[in-house]
Amino acid sequence: GDFAIELDTVVIGSGPGGYVAAIRAAQMGQKVTIVEKGNIGGVCLNVGCIPSKALISAGHHYQDAMHSETFGVTAENVVLDFAKTQEWKDNKVVKTLTKGVEGLLKKNKVEILRGEAYFNDEHTMRVMGETAAQTYSFNNAIIATGSRPIEIKGFKFGKRVIDSTGGLALSEVPKKLVVVGGGYIGSELAGAYANLGAEVTILEGSPSIMPTFEKDMIKFVTNNFAKKGVTIETSAMAKEAVETEDGVTVKYEVNGTEKSIDADYVMVTVGRRPNTDELGLEQAGVELNDRGLVTVDEQGRTSVKNIFAIGDIVPGAALAHKASYEAKVAAEAISGKKVAVDYKAMPAVAFTDPELAVVGLTLAEAKEKGLDVKASKFPLAGNGRALSLNATEGFVRLVTTKEDGVLVGAQIAGVSASDVIAEIGLAIEAGMVAEDIALTIHAHPSLAETVMDASELALGLPIHM
Ligand code: FAD
Repeated sequence: GDFAIELDTVVIGSGPGGYVAAIRAAQMGQKVTIVEKGNIGGVCLNVGCIPSKALISAGHHYQDAMHSETFGVTAENVVLDFAKTQEWKDNKVVKTLTKGVEGLLKKNKVEILRGEAYFNDEHTMRVMGETAAQTYSFNNAIIATGSRPIEIKGFKFGKRVIDSTGGLALSEVPKKLVVVGGGYIGSELAGAYANLGAEVTILEGSPSIMPTFEKDMIKFVTNNFAKKGVTIETSAMAKEAVETEDGVTVKYEVNGTEKSIDADYVMVTVGRRPNTDELGLEQAGVELNDRGLVTVDEQGRTSVKNIFAIGDIVPGAALAHKASYEAKVAAEAISGKKVAVDYKAMPAVAFTDPELAVVGLTLAEAKEKGLDVKASKFPLAGNGRALSLNATEGFVRLVTTKEDGVLVGAQIAGVSASDVIAEIGLAIEAGMVAEDIALTIHAHPSLAETVMDASELALGLPIHM
């Protein structure tokens, strides 16, 4: 039948944006339905953050098993059973988490609808299930349809030309892997496969890999890639991939010189595009910007007042924690709470070797904003825990105002930077000054002590420098 089933709040997509929005909206007393055409958990849990970190972790274990001579540990016949690695990643990591999220949705009485949503207008949508379509009317909608890999000219995805999803699903470690695009996704997977034994070449169009991070941070990653034998070709324009019987030839150009390289696989990670093109948004009256992203206000409200958008389909960094943060704001806004997004303490992390993590402003960005600031940089080499981990590469840098020491940003390169950055995010969020951190007792020995040391440096009272 074509009568519309009435819904209260409908969430489209179950990634870190959608599932969090659904749970929070339910907690706020809304009756919530979530529509998902693929797997619960979206990109992040199924083919993004989580499986990539699992492979990165496996790569570290493999390397450590082979190279722990420094600690007096040697091992013979270290074997990598990659089928087992993949089985662990899929069944013990990804499945555990996605089942967990499904359980959380059910616990919060969120109805799960399997199918593809398409707007008819601002109050109705159709959901195409596997066999039938059904029309629904709704009071409010939160769109969290995420993004997908960009395919570039000459690199049609196939058996040997793969995107990050294909890169995560390989059944063998390639002998030779070419990665086109040295952003954080490409660099993370390049590092993982290099650690798992692949000979890796990164082709990057700009003069540097991961150009969104500062030079003195990237340096540690490029040095580490060099140590692993990873080749980085910068200012390299990828031209074409030609699949051969048992591999692929990648043609590219560097400063006008044509080059080519043979590999088992070429993985293209040059960026992602928002899933806003096949949703019927124009029928609902939801406006997009010139990049195909949904324009939203500070609550995530689109140009249509009962429709919200969050995550990779709205402007800003395409990161899971941003999606989840916006999810909570949108769900609460629908319930009438006075909320608004504030990204000033939003971290960004690259899980490379070593990890790079940033939050807030760099020194240059703060100065551009007219702030009178200074940077205080404490090296990991001065930290006992880092030394005992044999991981002294990197630093913690705090950016603080000169006059009162207010924390406005931080950059960390080094082991566990992804965790150490959290404390600084909290400090920025709470409007703290360097003295607050310096007066906080940090457990010894810990990597987090480097944040205290950098704060003492900002105060002009460094103990360990
Ligand atoms: P998604 O997670 O993309 O979810 C969207 C969901 O909507 C999908 O499940 C899709 O099937 C569904 N959908 C789409 N259209 C429809 C429709 N019409 N009807 C019904 N359902 C629909 N971010 C980090 O913060 N940290 C990391 O370490 C990290 N690592 C990454 C590694 C890789 C390899 C990749 C690719 C990404 C990584 N990201 C990471 C980015 C992160 O995955 C995304 O920012 C995040 O998943 C965005 O969440 P989302 O909820 O906006 O959308």
